[in-house]
Amino acid sequence: MIKLSRITKHFGRQQVLRGIDLTARQGEVVAILGPSGSGKTTLLRCINYLERPSDGEVEIGGFKVDCKHPSKKEIQTLRRKSAMVFQHYNLFKHKTALENVMEGLVVVRKLPKDEARERSAKVLEKVGLGAKLDAYPSQLSGGQQQRVGIARALALEPEVILFDEPTSALDPELVGEVLEVIRRIAKEGITMIVVTHEMGFAREVANHVIFMDEGRIVEEGDPKEIFARPKEERTRQFLKRIT
Ligand code: ADP
Repeated sequence: MIKLSRITKHFGRQQVLRGIDLTARQGEVVAILGPSGSGKTTLLRCINYLERPSDGEVEIGGFKVDCKHPSKKEIQTLRRKSAMVFQHYNLFKHKTALENVMEGLVVVRKLPKDEARERSAKVLEKVGLGAKLDAYPSQLSGGQQQRVGIARALALEPEVILFDEPTSALDPELVGEVLEVIRRIAKEGITMIVVTHEMGFAREVANHVIFMDEGRIVEEGDPKEIFARPKEERTRQFLKRIT
């Protein structure tokens, strides 16, 4: 289970997050929606301390960190419980697909190389890239590169996978294959928090939708309910613009 309590974040004098509470149960898919600049990416990055929250608590799989005074060790332990899929894939350009997936397993998890290779090949197979193990990122389409990014996260077997707008850098014709892979993983019961502008995907795959604006959760609930009958005016306006 993931639990965020009273998360705030300042960048200098600007307050970007204003007290966020969020819970994702084991196997749940939570979609975070909202206009640009509302704090979605910052919230996601606070979960694994890519951004350090100004205040609040982050709890993943029973391990709780008070954001005011975290020790290095606590941050390290927390980081190992999640894996991030980035908008721009963030692959090593001079490494093959297989090596990209292996990297975290060998360097961070200290797995023996043989074991890391075997596990990496297996997850690449799972995302439909079994024939591309030795391809470099430049030899792959954007959709394939993002699937390597997803394989890299899956290989770490984290408590939760954090997706930061995973399809927004892709040409429209490549979005489908990446969403399909995420949809498939979701069915396996992996906990996921997804920042996305893909409303169809959120409606279909998420168990819980959070709508953010100006650093706050304005509305949240069952996707079918929120999309059909948004209660808040700001949610209504946003959905009208985007769908
Ligand atoms: P969203 O993902 O909803 O578009 P972000 O979390 O990216 O929103 O950004 C929220 C606000 O925080 C924006 O005003 C943005 O300019 C600001 N912000 C994000 N990252 C930084 C940073 N590293 N330094 C300063 N301001 C930032």
